[in-house]
Amino acid sequence: MKQEKQYAVIGLGRFGTSVAKTLHKMGYEVLAIDSNEDKVQEFSNEVTHVVQADSTDEAALTALGIRNFDVVVVAIGEDVQANVLTTLQLKEIGVSYIVAKARDALHGKMLQKIGADRVIYPERDMGQRVAYNLVSSNVLDYIELSPDLGIVEVAIPQILIGKTLAEANLRAKYEINVVAIKREEQLMVPPLPSEKFTKHDILVVVGGIKGIQGLEELT
Ligand code: ADP
Repeated sequence: MKQEKQYAVIGLGRFGTSVAKTLHKMGYEVLAIDSNEDKVQEFSNEVTHVVQADSTDEAALTALGIRNFDVVVVAIGEDVQANVLTTLQLKEIGVSYIVAKARDALHGKMLQKIGADRVIYPERDMGQRVAYNLVSSNVLDYIELSPDLGIVEVAIPQILIGKTLAEANLRAKYEINVVAIKREEQLMVPPLPSEKFTKHDILVVVGGIKGIQGLEELT
C-alpha cells in the first residue's frame, strides 16, 4: 500500500494554522512547528504533532527529522528574515519539496533563488479572487495559472441552461474548456459532450482570461 504523504507546517500564524488544520482534517499526518510557546499550546489539540522550535536553527530541524517529510510549508509571514533563513536551512538539509509563503514579488524571487519548489502569495491570490468575484457575480472562484491563463468556477449563465456542453460550443467560441460540472453534491469530471446544463450547475473552466471574460459576460 502506498504510504500517505507526511506534511510539516512551520509558523502557526493565520495562514499556517489554516493549512495545518485543513491537511489534518483531510486525514494527513501533520507536524506543526512554531517558536512561540503560546502558539504551540493553543494548537496542541488541532493537529497530530505540535512542537516548539526555532526553524532557523538547523540542528533543531534535523532533530525533528524534518528531512523525512514529503512536503514542508514555510508559513512564517511577518518575519521575512526567519522565513528566508528557514527555507535555506530546509534546502541545506535536503527536504524534497518546500513550499514557501512570500509577502511580495521580491521576497518570492529570493525564495525561488534559494530553491523553494513552490512559492505562494496568499494575499495576492486572494485579492485576485475577490476582485474577479466583485466584477462578475457569476464568478465563484478564480485561480491564476499564469498572467493570462486561469481556472474559474462560474455559475451557469441563464442562456446556456437546457443546452448540452456540445451545443454550447464554448471551446470554439471562447477557447475555453469546461473541465468539470458541479451539480449539487455531484462532480462530473470530465463532463460528457451530451451533458445538458441545468439551473444550479457550476462550471469549472480552464482558459485564457479573454475567453473566461467572454463567458462571464453571458447572462
Ligand atoms: P500570518 O501572517 O499568516 O498570520 P505570522 O507571520 O503572523 O503569519 O505568523 C507566523 C508564525 O511564525 C508566528 O506564530 C511565529 O511565532 C512563527 N515564527 C516566526 N519565526 C519563527 C521561527 N524562526 N521558527 C518557528 N516559528 C516562527
